[in-house]
Amino acid sequence: MEYKLDISVVVPLFNEDESLPELYAWIERVMKERGFSYEVIFVNDGSTDNSWNVIETLSQENSEHVRGIKFRRNYGKSPALYCGFKAAQGRVVITMDADLQDSPDEIPELYKMIVEEGYDLVSGYKLNRSQGDPLSKTIPTKLFNATARKVSGIKNLHDFNCGLKAYRRKVIKSIEVYGEMHRYIPILAKHAGFKRIGEKV
Ligand code: UDP
Ligand code: MG
Repeated sequence: MEYKLDISVVVPLFNEDESLPELYAWIERVMKERGFSYEVIFVNDGSTDNSWNVIETLSQENSEHVRGIKFRRNYGKSPALYCGFKAAQGRVVITMDADLQDSPDEIPELYKMIVEEGYDLVSGYKLNRSQGDPLSKTIPTKLFNATARKVSGIKNLHDFNCGLKAYRRKVIKSIEVYGEMHRYIPILAKHAGFKRIGEKV
């Protein structure tokens, strides 16, 4: 099958105007170094700061690569991802948070795991992701992941909720993400029949 682009990066965002230029420059650098054809889809989830202006500027300066989707109000991360998935044209679709907690340097390896190693979905996992978080946040997170592993039978994922994930195109076109479902996407994917789920540490 022919694909229009190697990679679509989908970035859901709410009030992230400060990090967007740096995030885009970083993604662009990685894509150029590796010679990927790509698009970055910024989904502005009703930001009340300057995010939309920043996205408009970025898309004017990089019209071939940057697309913006704008919600009229704050609907949440799941609807933002879902809209980005609808628009994505790449062979591999990568989601990334806008707050620079996820590193674009991981994109080439994620791409390779999907295209060459046959994974349907690869989740990022940062050993130090919860570093600095209070126990009131890390303990529920651990419980959440332990429960999700048990219920889903996806035993190899440490962090279901990691914003950095890569998908084979078919996967994101087969699932519907709404409400708070972004936390459970690996489970949705498994139920849609995609069983090759991996993690990149
Ligand atoms: N986000 C969004 N809509 C919201 C809340 C968050 O699009 O209503 C975006 C946010 O800007 C970021 C990503 O979703 O790009 C993850 O959000 P956050 O960093 O708050 O989540 P956490 O790191 O705690 O999982
Ligand atoms: Mg975050």
